Amino acid sequence: MGGGWCGERGVVERADVVIVGAGAAGLSLAHRLDRALSGRSVAVVETPETALRPPERTWCFWEAAAGEWDAAVSHRWHALAAVGPDGTVWRSRIHPLVYKMVRSRDFEALVRGGLRRTRTLWGTVTEVVDGPDRAVVRLRGADGAESELAAGLVFDSRPPALPPADGVTLLQHFRGWFVRTDRPRFDSSAAVLMDLRVPQPERGVAFGYVLPFDARTALVEYTEFTREVLDDAGYDAALRDYTGRLRLGVFTRTGTEQGVIPMTSAQLPGRVGRRVFRIGTAGGATRPATGYTFSGVQRQTRQIAAALAAGRLPVRFPAHRRRHLFLDAVLLRGLDEGLVDGAEFFAALFRSTPLPRLLRFLDGETTPLEELAIGVRTPVAAMTAALWSQVRAGRRGRRGDTQS
Ligand SMILES: Cc1cc2nc3c(=O)[nH]c(=O)nc-3n(C[C@H](O)[C@H](O)[C@H](O)COP(=O)(O)OP(=O)(O)OC[C@H]3O[C@@H](n4cnc5c(N)ncnc54)[C@H](O)[C@@H]3O)c2cc1C
Repeated sequence: MGGGWCGERGVVERADVVIVGAGAAGLSLAHRLDRALSGRSVAVVETPETALRPPERTWCFWEAAAGEWDAAVSHRWHALAAVGPDGTVWRSRIHPLVYKMVRSRDFEALVRGGLRRTRTLWGTVTEVVDGPDRAVVRLRGADGAESELAAGLVFDSRPPALPPADGVTLLQHFRGWFVRTDRPRFDSSAAVLMDLRVPQPERGVAFGYVLPFDARTALVEYTEFTREVLDDAGYDAALRDYTGRLRLGVFTRTGTEQGVIPMTSAQLPGRVGRRVFRIGTAGGATRPATGYTFSGVQRQTRQIAAALAAGRLPVRFPAHRRRHLFLDAVLLRGLDEGLVDGAEFFAALFRSTPLPRLLRFLDGETTPLEELAIGVRTPVAAMTAALWSQVRAGRRGRRGDTQS
């Protein structure tokens, strides 16, 4: 990272906009503000503490053919597949969409290489204090020295320490192996979004995910949407089982990717103070029912940049539509309470809905009529039970009772 900074205790610097965290959301916003705001100072604060910094990751998303991050895209698929619990395969081209993969290090290099006016400051943010005239960002430097940064506006992407207390929160937790097989084993023309043949948990859902790069190399992941993560042995056993089902034969593991993405129906507001905002996963960019976040981050940061460029405060910059968040909340509740059989639910979706329409739905671009057509083909009785449970929980929440 360029532009080092080391604060002394009590030294106050100033920036018109401070972005906390240089991950997917922080960098996306920095990229946009660097272009949209001339004459205003922007600083990105990133922690030097390796324990707080996420390891390298791959981010997948879909969009119509050409896109703004194409220079960082390392792989593209024009077709996707899903596999039902009984082995039925649904495979389809997704034209005009393309499923793209960006490695976090390439994304970071692309964004950083393009920043002209934005400074990067190294420090661990310990507190953000809102105020009428300015916000104050408290920092701890690599040497332990504390300092403060005064900010006109703060966009904070630090992941929340605790899951939100309200609503249902499941974890999307996964481990993937980058593998190289001794013989051609993969159909590299299609990524497999969900392979539901794996053993299912009592509540929630488990599935395999395959990103094939060529006939012999792929990222093969085991994923669960459940309340608790597994231990190392649990993930490795699940991956051994899944790679066995894929009949990979002899293969070498060349790397690992692991993560936890909170999937929550709790409201995560973007604006949390007069001058303080949350972005990224912390600000509700993660689609609750899928864990996909990258596209939501782009929608959020585009709206913020447009508002600031027009001289407005970005009061609302939703990544997802309200009705989609409600549908996702119903599904999360159904999975969490064991009302919905996760594998059967997702299999019904893939069986009945063309993949391009499903992708448009997940990006919030379908009409209510299209969504009704999707909804009636899911297990209706189970989803109705989940819907009522969600409505009852909402009423209890409004009355202030303890939610389940
Ligand atoms: C392994 C993995 C794979 C994923 N794959 C996909 C995918 O394929 N598609 C998709 O859409 N989503 C995916 N996600 C979900 C989501 O896109 C990512 O989690 C994404 O990184 C979220 O962006 P963010 O900016 O909110 O958080 P992050 O990218 O985690 O950024 C937060 C930043 O804040 C910094 N930070 C933390 N604490 C402090 C502090 N105290 N002071 C200063 N800085 C701090 C961190 O170092 C980090 O740089 C994946 C997540 C993981 C974990």
